[in-house]
Amino acid sequence: MTEGRATFPIEPWSLTEIGLEHASLGVHESVFALANGHIGLRGSFEEGEPSVIPGTYLNGFFEERPLPYAEAGYGFPEQGQTMVNVTDGKLIRLLVKDSPLDLNYGEIVEHRRTLDLRAGVLRRVTEWQSPGGRTVRVTSTRLVSLARRSIAAIQYQVEVTDDLGDLYVAVQSDLLANEAGHTTSGDPRSAAALAKPLQSELAVARGRRAVLVHRTKRSRLRVAAGMDHVIEIPDTCTEDIEAMGDLARYTLAARIPPRGVLKLTKFLAYGWSSRRSDAAVRDQVEAALATAKLAGFERLLREQRELLDQHWDEADVEIEGDDELQQAVRVGMFHVLQAGLRGERQAIPAKGLTGPGYDGHAFWDTEAYVLPVLTYTAPHAARDALRWRHSILDKARDRAKILGLRGAAFPWRTIRGEECSGYWPAGTAAFHINADIADAVVRYWNATLDEDFDRDFGAELLVETARLWASLGHFDVEHGFRIDGVTGPDEYTAVVDNNVFTNLMAQRNLREAAEAVRRQPDVACRLEVTEDEVEVWLRAAALMAVPYDTQRGVHMQSDAFTHHEEWDFEHTPPEKYPLLLHYPYFDIYRKQVVKQADLVMALHMRGDAFTLEEKIADFAYYEARTTRDSSLSASQQAVVAAETGHLQLAYDYWAEAALTDLQNLHHNSGHGLHIASLAGGWTVAVAGFGGLRDHNGELTFGPRLPERISRLRFRVVYRGRRLTVAVTKQTATYRLEDGEPLDIRHHGRQVTVGHDDVVLEIPPPPKVDRVRQPIGCAPKRRRRD
Ligand code: BGC
Repeated sequence: MTEGRATFPIEPWSLTEIGLEHASLGVHESVFALANGHIGLRGSFEEGEPSVIPGTYLNGFFEERPLPYAEAGYGFPEQGQTMVNVTDGKLIRLLVKDSPLDLNYGEIVEHRRTLDLRAGVLRRVTEWQSPGGRTVRVTSTRLVSLARRSIAAIQYQVEVTDDLGDLYVAVQSDLLANEAGHTTSGDPRSAAALAKPLQSELAVARGRRAVLVHRTKRSRLRVAAGMDHVIEIPDTCTEDIEAMGDLARYTLAARIPPRGVLKLTKFLAYGWSSRRSDAAVRDQVEAALATAKLAGFERLLREQRELLDQHWDEADVEIEGDDELQQAVRVGMFHVLQAGLRGERQAIPAKGLTGPGYDGHAFWDTEAYVLPVLTYTAPHAARDALRWRHSILDKARDRAKILGLRGAAFPWRTIRGEECSGYWPAGTAAFHINADIADAVVRYWNATLDEDFDRDFGAELLVETARLWASLGHFDVEHGFRIDGVTGPDEYTAVVDNNVFTNLMAQRNLREAAEAVRRQPDVACRLEVTEDEVEVWLRAAALMAVPYDTQRGVHMQSDAFTHHEEWDFEHTPPEKYPLLLHYPYFDIYRKQVVKQADLVMALHMRGDAFTLEEKIADFAYYEARTTRDSSLSASQQAVVAAETGHLQLAYDYWAEAALTDLQNLHHNSGHGLHIASLAGGWTVAVAGFGGLRDHNGELTFGPRLPERISRLRFRVVYRGRRLTVAVTKQTATYRLEDGEPLDIRHHGRQVTVGHDDVVLEIPPPPKVDRVRQPIGCAPKRRRRD
């Protein structure tokens, strides 16, 4: 779906839509999505139309569909999983005398919506004149509770703003299942369209409350959606409630005098289950509704605010010198939090719960992009996401068996845990996801020293992923330990030998598994880890193949990569990007063209395995061959650009990562947000310009600012302490807000940080030649001053 570019006024703590732009409607539905990791509501209007994709999602709730293959093969996944658009509870339709409120008709006097990042709500004001000439002002406040996982609520208010006498209005507040959704496009990044995936099981209504229970046909999952209402009306009214099949409707008809106000508060509750009966899921949402209603809307608002106040206090990134980026980074962090905070042992999908893109699947995006942010800003959410991985460990073990391997082979893309990638060269072969998961486990462990997690989940994940590497790779007399026939992060180079990123991440995985076995002898005993096995892991790690091109003086992304034919960038016109939609994979695979940071990502994630000189040379080489056809690329390139002294370039990439969705840079934000790229906004601030690295359990910094940024301040939560880092051009100031003193490194120098400011000078960046990107692929230059 190609859509217009959205524009928002620059504000520090909010995002506002002014007026209605049809071209960017879908993008706005995504950026105004509210979620808590369990429920996701796209930012579609209460009245249902105009809308591009109305989406309401529950994390983990999907329908199965067969994956058809023209030519089948052993081990191909047979069932796909697609996130379902569940019962829509956002709907509140308004009839103004005899015209339905629909922004496609009548006249918009004023319209604005604001996503408030501190209050955690979406506010709306629409003043509208009906085709019949009556004017009303509709105000709504919508929230998906971060404090109460199964609850959302909308406060909806109608005010008569003309002086044409009493106005008769009818408000229809609905729960609607199987609403018309999107159609499929030819873009592999979009989603399969499911026609009417929900079968009705129960529909009950009483007073102002109604519940619908539905079930999917194939995956046999049950969902209950409930609504209840509180009303305040100025004059007479009639009420009615009904529920049948796919629709439950509460109708309120009222007469409002001029300047009079009608207020409706709608409480929504959602629950789903694979096991529980229809009556049980119904009771669950009715109970949740009862407590939410008892608490009241004001209290829900208060809880939301308190939770976010605390979060921003622990996690905020302050940027002086670029207000647009400040806004974008905060919006990105807000969406990352919404995607993961209350996931509670469900996955964090690549789009969060903001749209149907990628079928609602979770990829390595979770561990490699989102969890680094959550580990240092909301560690319990990182823990829960890793517990989800652990919960699908048995499926990963089964998959490894099917593939003839030991240990666990986690799926490249999934909802419930089964491999759902129908294209094995960029799916099953992308084994690096296993090391990415291990890396996230290690990071979480180092940042929290959470013993319970290590014992109950972490160590087992490390052992089973290490076993995979030991059986996937082999010892070769000449080349050490080789891992052949895999695909690294760069999906334009598939099924290759010794992908450096994969090998180095596997190396860390193997070593850390050996450490975990030492820390958790009981777990090792339960998993029957032998001493010989650990020895093999350590030997494989020590002998890991890391291909290097001595002639060119750079690492090879994988064996022989630097000997491949160059891609003809000169004759690749701008409209042919992304290449995957315009060129055959066979041609892309055999040439030196890189979709997204791969070797460059290794320079960041395994920076401890390279010298600065190597990083400088490698970065320049791969920079010239990387198209950034994936939104996952810019943030990684930014981090390495910053470290290798290309501060302005890092800054340009920072903007690209953080503004990906606000500016719809990949033309598909309407299908859902690019959560990994948004997480990248934080990563560039903290790991790029703050230089945070966490290799081998040591927290180190190497801060350096680009020209235009005069000050950067961020906080990380580490081992129960809050550490504040404030960076200017000349100095970095470290201070602990609480807890025992902490040893860190600043540009290589070890220092102990306590409750007083530790002010340290920033050395000049390395002197480097300018790097170039492929013709037409340079990032947009951002003003220097
Ligand atoms: C990228 C993958 C990523 C996926 C989901 C693809 O375009 O190449 O690395 O995991 O999108 O975001």
